Amino acid sequence: MPLDVAWSAKQTGEAHCCADMTSALTFECDQHADPFECGDSALIYNPVFDEYGLVVHDGGASYVVISHCPWCAAKLPESQRDRWFDETDALDLGPDDETPEKYRTSAWRKP
Ligand SMILES: [Zn+2]
Ligand SMILES: [Zn+2]
Repeated sequence: MPLDVAWSAKQTGEAHCCADMTSALTFECDQHADPFECGDSALIYNPVFDEYGLVVHDGGASYVVISHCPWCAAKLPESQRDRWFDETDALDLGPDDETPEKYRTSAWRKP
């Protein structure tokens, strides 16, 4: 199943380790709606997988997952990417089925 989850870097309500991280993740740019298109964005948080990444400006939505905060050195959460694929695989979706809503946000990993 392709990863067709569109997520927004602007999702709020997540607590981050420190103020520097929070401000780095607060993406605001007049010219770009998407942090992957903006040369000024450096970090993103993916709430679906609960992972933090350094934005790779290669024209796509790539990022390199980081395990520690570059500012306060806090250990960042373990990525839930593998679990996400395990759970969505178990749903047995066909190639034309959409990923269920709950798996497009952090909702799937919340109790
Ligand atoms: Zn920009
Ligand atoms: Zn931090």
